[in-house]
Amino acid sequence: MDSGRTEVFIGYRVHHSTALGPTKGGLRYDAEVNLGEVTALAMLMSWKCALMGLPYGGAKGGVRCAPRTMSAREREHLTRRYTAEIILMIGPDLDIPAPDLGTDEQVMAWMMDTYSMTQGKSVPGVVTGKPLIVGGSAGRREATGRGIVYVLYQAAKSLGQELRGKRVVVQGFGNVGSVAARMLWRDGCIVAGVADFRGGIWNPHGIDIRQLEVHVAETGSVAGFPGTDAVTNAELLEQPCDILVPAAVGSVIHERNAERVRAQIVAEAANGPTTPEADAILRDRGVTVIPDILCNAGGVVVSYFEWVQGLQYYFWKESEITSRLQELMARAFTRVWNAAQKNGVDLRTAALMEGVRRVADAHVVRGLYP
Ligand code: NAD
Repeated sequence: MDSGRTEVFIGYRVHHSTALGPTKGGLRYDAEVNLGEVTALAMLMSWKCALMGLPYGGAKGGVRCAPRTMSAREREHLTRRYTAEIILMIGPDLDIPAPDLGTDEQVMAWMMDTYSMTQGKSVPGVVTGKPLIVGGSAGRREATGRGIVYVLYQAAKSLGQELRGKRVVVQGFGNVGSVAARMLWRDGCIVAGVADFRGGIWNPHGIDIRQLEVHVAETGSVAGFPGTDAVTNAELLEQPCDILVPAAVGSVIHERNAERVRAQIVAEAANGPTTPEADAILRDRGVTVIPDILCNAGGVVVSYFEWVQGLQYYFWKESEITSRLQELMARAFTRVWNAAQKNGVDLRTAALMEGVRRVADAHVVRGLYP
């Protein structure tokens, strides 16, 4: 640490399945990181990659730490040490980490550099979500947020509704939440509530997201944005709205608050924001839940594009990436929507059926060896 003290951190990297290809999944820095959660998230990545038709199995990593209290130098030390510890587990054709909660482009650059130094050459394909200058992809940072909005367009269309004019609440204003909020606001939705780790803000008539971005850049949080009322994170989830986008941490919608969620659509931007008990309550109440493995898959889709570009050393234009992302998200949504109708199940079950089936098919055709 900067103080000269040595601190021990606990970290994990879990590979869940290699049936469809090398593993892929984010790396999170968070105080709640534990082996059970990382393992569950790795499994979700397997179903997500399979559902999206990507040639990957699922993985996930995490280090239990409080990134917001650490200096850049401390985060760099932590990242390089973690990378060195898992170096035999990662590689462009083995396992490819990406950013997640509490990690960003800079963390990916440090990981890529640490790995490359041990190989004696630059290996851009070992991580995705890198800065552009070292082989990142145009549109990767915005990909997850964009994907959520594309899926919401499809959902509204399938429900015979218009997205424009809908009242939206977004929990989390990081990489994912801020991009989704900005796009929905730009496309004519009323973004009435936003929250981050310090708390939430609420204005039923809508929040100017461009000005909110300036406020966040200056103060580090959405809290205290002029013209809004302060609400807690718990209160924010229960505000009257059409669309709720939980884009922060897991298990925020649970059996104690699911009855009070007033949105008609819950777009799961975060991984696992709804507990199974809450999921059943929302389903019984007729709320359309767009499951995480579909809703937030835009990130891994553009990560896939980044990996392909890195392997070929040939980089695409942002417009090309965005239109391919839109096509893949729309196609996946339609597949899941149709499967749900056909089998008489909700969207989560349909998405899981599709993802699990593809992994199972790959296992069957490959056979069991040794
Ligand atoms: P981030 O670190 O950039 O942003 C997280 C946001 O959530 C911040 O605004 C933070 O203040 C807020 N937050 C953190 N803890 C909170 C808490 N306890 N209560 C309320 N707000 C809290 O992370 P991100 O990359 O935007 O990821 C957000 C979620 O989306 C995570 O669940 C992640 O697994 C999921 N996800 C991210 C990607 C991606 O491409 N980054 C892809 C798929 C899924």
